[in-house]
Amino acid sequence: MYWVQTSLQTNGVKEVETIIIGGGISGMACGNELHKAGKDFILLTKELGGRMLTSKTHTVDYGASYITTEYKNVMSYIDRGERLMVKDFYFFDGNDFSNIFNNKSMLLRVHKWIKFIHLLKDFSNRLNVFRKKTLLKEQKEVLKDDPVLVQYLSEKADVFLKKHGFEYLNEVYFNPVVNSTAFVEYRDVSVFHYLGSLIPLVAKTYVADFRHTNHKLTNSWKDKIHITSVHEVTKKHSRKGFTIKTSEGDYTCTNIVLALPYDKANMIFDVPKPKNSGVPVYVFHVVGRREEIYLNKKIVFFRPEHHDITILWRQKSGSDIVFSKVANPDFHKYYELDHIVKRIHWGTSVVLSDENFVKQNIEEGVILASDYNLTGLEDSYITGVYAANKILGKTLD
Ligand SMILES: Cc1cc2nc3c(=O)[nH]c(=O)nc-3n(C[C@H](O)[C@H](O)[C@H](O)COP(=O)(O)OP(=O)(O)OC[C@H]3O[C@@H](n4cnc5c(N)ncnc54)[C@H](O)[C@@H]3O)c2cc1C
Repeated sequence: MYWVQTSLQTNGVKEVETIIIGGGISGMACGNELHKAGKDFILLTKELGGRMLTSKTHTVDYGASYITTEYKNVMSYIDRGERLMVKDFYFFDGNDFSNIFNNKSMLLRVHKWIKFIHLLKDFSNRLNVFRKKTLLKEQKEVLKDDPVLVQYLSEKADVFLKKHGFEYLNEVYFNPVVNSTAFVEYRDVSVFHYLGSLIPLVAKTYVADFRHTNHKLTNSWKDKIHITSVHEVTKKHSRKGFTIKTSEGDYTCTNIVLALPYDKANMIFDVPKPKNSGVPVYVFHVVGRREEIYLNKKIVFFRPEHHDITILWRQKSGSDIVFSKVANPDFHKYYELDHIVKRIHWGTSVVLSDENFVKQNIEEGVILASDYNLTGLEDSYITGVYAANKILGKTLD
């Protein structure tokens, strides 16, 4: 546990200008920026890292697991593990495997593939422009600048796929990938989140290596981190500001940054509810011998209509990570012998918003960070930087 140094102490209640609640990527990003600017703040969190959760040896990720070269901001703090190559992706249809490079039916569909990649690159470029602006302006406001992104958030992926004739590519390749990254099928996502899940097709993608992330982000201000659980946030009656009750005592502050997902933040403050706020998923770390047909295939994606797991992913260490939407998948279908080293249930894995983004400045002195509008390490990191910039008075306007 770190020792907390606060500016003032009145009747045992510590007074600080800004309190960040939550020490995942968004909370740490905010703290790092406030520290660089010499501001008075502390960060209260149950633990550091949040959904960046790894095995004790840091060789296997149990939460967020990949980064792409499109992560231009957060990339300085996350090391690149092994590169994920499309040639290592196998798609199982219940009987047989196909790989993008060995599927003869693809020859007839090359023009569709080229068209899809063109649209995906355009989406990715738009997202980059959006992200740059959201360092200094609310996501909800920046979104208005790009009608195509607004359209992609409101349009269902199945309509888009039909319109462009991408049904085959979706069934064989894209839907199993979306189902393993957004944890829902194409019928249940907007075009925006569908395309967002497929960006690894147009950007170099790496296994995320978080072993140095917390240290890089917090080393120079770790005296401002307090490992504790926040129970309640209340407004002060007489003056501006807030009182924060934790398991280790009370604090008062002028600004609060809520850097935690809806299901956690909602328990301590009245935060806006994002659309589809809690897509759940189970992550299993498995050591074992795969069934013969799955041997020597690094990453196997499964079709949701045939299987209770979405992905079988061989790790560098030799063990597997398996994602499933059910609590107890039948591992005997995939392994001759298996031992489950770890099983994690994420109540909120990702958020699948629509075009009605929630506000980040929810009331005077309260700023929302984390993935209420857009999930992922890059966008969560940016919301933390935005919160700090807001406190520092840095804006685009
Ligand atoms: C299974 C899974 C796979 C994913 N895959 C990817 C991926 O491959 N790539 C990618 O970019 N993103 C991925 N994501 C999404 C990504 O992990 C999140 O968008 C991002 O980590 C959110 O960071 P955050 O800091 O906003 O929230 P969190 O990481 O959730 O941090 C919240 C923090 O708040 C703390 N906290 C909670 N309640 C309290 C309380 N009452 N008091 C004090 N502290 C509290 C928690 O301990 C935690 O430290 C994945 C997520 C999951 C679950």
